[in-house]
Order: sequence, then structure tokens, then C-alpha cells
Amino acid sequence: MSEITSANLIAMFAEIAKSMADAKAHLCELDGVIGDADHGIAMDLGFSTVATNLGALDAAATDPAMVFNTAAKSFLNAVGASSGPLYATAFMRAGASVKGKNVLSDADFADAFIAMAKGIQDRGKAEIGDKTMIDAWAPAASAVEAAKARSASLAEILDEAGKAAEKGAEATKAMIASKGRSARLGERAIGHIDPGAASAAILIRAIGRGLD
Ligand code: ADP
Ligand code: MG
Repeated sequence: MSEITSANLIAMFAEIAKSMADAKAHLCELDGVIGDADHGIAMDLGFSTVATNLGALDAAATDPAMVFNTAAKSFLNAVGASSGPLYATAFMRAGASVKGKNVLSDADFADAFIAMAKGIQDRGKAEIGDKTMIDAWAPAASAVEAAKARSASLAEILDEAGKAAEKGAEATKAMIASKGRSARLGERAIGHIDPGAASAAILIRAIGRGLD
């Protein structure tokens, strides 16, 4: 996509909402093993609220920053779990990174993506290896940065991001958690994928499809 409009971003969030509705049971199952079994509920409720609220906007009268800011507020209000403030911060940072622009270039969107990952990391203070959504988001952001630097198309950039996120999520299986609810499980968390990393990979793939 050479020019990303607010309408495109709204369609992207609708695709994310659809993917979370489809993954709801699977994410609750993953969270049931090492957490409190609500992650699918949180992500589904959060993104369905985001999609509903964005659907009520007049896309032609809304700039991209406002789309992200509305998503941030909607997600925060809907989600009481720890993923609430993490994704709200992600979308607020994306909004700040595109402030003042009416349409986004591929590079602008890549920057917004990187800002999302950084927002989650700033808010939650997790590092790679802590068995959290950062194990998917951080390598995805690095892949976006590398693909952007070689002037790849947005489709390629987001495909690289999706691959890196899926690989990062898979790698959480071997990890002990040091952040979030599953940290108290110690070695019992080994062998189980982190639900937040799994949903991050699903979300990042949905971004790719939503902007295709
Ligand atoms: P809760 O743990 O409050 O029930 P969710 O079930 O919605 O919240 O989300 C759990 C996911 O949140 C975890 O699998 C993990 O990926 C992510 N998470 C928890 N704490 C942090 C943190 N400090 N930084 C990044 N991600 C985190
Ligand atoms: Mg939970």
C-alpha cells in the first residue's frame, strides 16, 4: 500500500478484531495453563470494542493519529487485565508517531509499528526472554526496522514482522517467566507458550492482512 488512510487503519483494526474473536478460545486455553484463563476474553473484548468505536467515526473527518488514539482509549476502557494498559500505550505511541499526518507512507506505518513495540516495552519493562508479548513484539519491530532500511514494500515488511513474531512466540515455550502472572510458576511454565506472545503474533499477522 503506498498511501495508508484512516479508513485503511480502521479496516486493519476490524481485521485484528476478527482474528481475536477467532482465537479467543485458543488464547484462553493457553492462559489457563500458565495464567488465569482470561487472555482470549480480554483480547476479544478489547478489540471488538475498538472496532465498534472506530466504526462509529467518520473516516474522512478523522486523521490517523485520532484512529490510534481512539483505539487506545477504547482498549484501555474495555480491558481490566494487564494487556489493557500495555496495548493502550502501544496505540497511543503509534498515534504520537503519526501526529499531524493525513495519510501515512509505508515508512510512516513502519515507524508507528516500531513505536507500538517500544510503548509496550516502556510500559511493562519486559525484556526479550521474560516470556511475555515482548518476545513477539521486539523481534517483530527489529524485523520491521531492517526491512524498512532496505526499502522493502509494506507487504514484505509486515510479512517479515509476522514471521519474527511467530518465531518469538514459539521460543517462549522454553522460557521461565519473570514478568506477569506466570512468573510465580517458575519452571512449571516451561513447555508452554506465553498467551500474550501468541496473541501478539496473531495480531501482527492480522495487521499484515488488514493493510494488504
Ligand atoms: P492478566 O495477566 O492480567 O490476566 P492477560 O491474561 O490479558 O492479563 O495477559 C497476559 C499476558 O500479558 C502475558 O501472557 C504476557 O504476555 C503479558 N504481560 C504480562 N505482564 C507483562 C509485562 N510487564 N510486559 C509485557 N507483557 C506482559
Ligand atoms: Mg490472564
